[in-house]
Amino acid sequence: MAAKLIDGKAIAEQLREDVKQQVKERTTKALPIPGLATVIIGDNPASKVYVRMKQKACQEAGILSIGHELPPEASQEEVEALIQELNQDPKIHGILVQLPLPAGLDEEKVLNTINLRKDVDGFHPINIGRLAQKGREPLFVPATPSGVMVLLEEAGAVLEGSNAVVLGRSNIVGMPVSLLLVRANATVTICHSRTKDIPAITRNAEILVAAVGIPEFVRGDWIKSGATVIDVGVNRVEDETRKSGYRLVGDVAFDEALKIAGAITPVPGGVGPMTIAMLLRNTLRAARLADGNNLK
Ligand code: NAP
Repeated sequence: MAAKLIDGKAIAEQLREDVKQQVKERTTKALPIPGLATVIIGDNPASKVYVRMKQKACQEAGILSIGHELPPEASQEEVEALIQELNQDPKIHGILVQLPLPAGLDEEKVLNTINLRKDVDGFHPINIGRLAQKGREPLFVPATPSGVMVLLEEAGAVLEGSNAVVLGRSNIVGMPVSLLLVRANATVTICHSRTKDIPAITRNAEILVAAVGIPEFVRGDWIKSGATVIDVGVNRVEDETRKSGYRLVGDVAFDEALKIAGAITPVPGGVGPMTIAMLLRNTLRAARLADGNNLK
């Protein structure tokens, strides 16, 4: 039987609609409109596309979005000064610094400068540290990893006591996803580029999250029958039949996986749309924190 498709696009649309409604309600209560500042440093074309998509999504949800662009040669001091300014700006509830930063800038220091209560990307060392600690609550959880968790929930996956395997250990996806799965009481194995015999490990996974950035890395026979598979990968592969000359594929060989998995996310239309929806949700949360709410 073919796996059930986890429709990230539809789930994300619903989430965005919910955010939009809540933003509307805020205006009727004379509460401030949530504001997101985006910061791009340098000329990375992919970063520009991502930020534009995030700004458009903000506008559609009624969230104020203010873009800042700094040149590739911007100094550490200039970047930190801009963030300090945004930290002080009451119209701005969330600050998103698009990564990766140009070489020469200290990413950790930049992220450390963001006011914890405006850290809508959840990458501030204190938020990540809290995520890793039992009994501590981060103010924000990174968007892509929390989107993965929503998709697992929507798919009805049982996490408690399950074997979960995460492929990839990056700061932005693999590691926070692993931490979230541990918090959900799964037994988590993290695989990376030095892991031996990955297929032997994934074949035991009831939950499989792939975030390696290699097209169709996970083959059908690596997957346990009935597993829930979340494919975070977004990879361009050449395709002459397309006008663009390429198509997007995930880290999982989708057609093969479809025959064996219990549920799977497509690429595109799976995790990608969730990332933006969760960012909007985090921005709304930041505005509610600024209202003086003690949020759980
Ligand atoms: P990354 O920073 O490049 O990390 C890749 C991870 O995969 C690393 O931990 C690396 O191991 C591991 N890896 C690389 N080759 C491997 C191999 N042969 N076997 C096992 N593990 C291997 O990538 P990322 O930022 O986490 O992104 C991963 C994928 O998700 C990319 O396709 C990216 O485009 C996509 N992505 C999608 C979204 C979305 O919204 N949908 C958001 C972010 C990222 P080491 O640590 O040992 O190097």
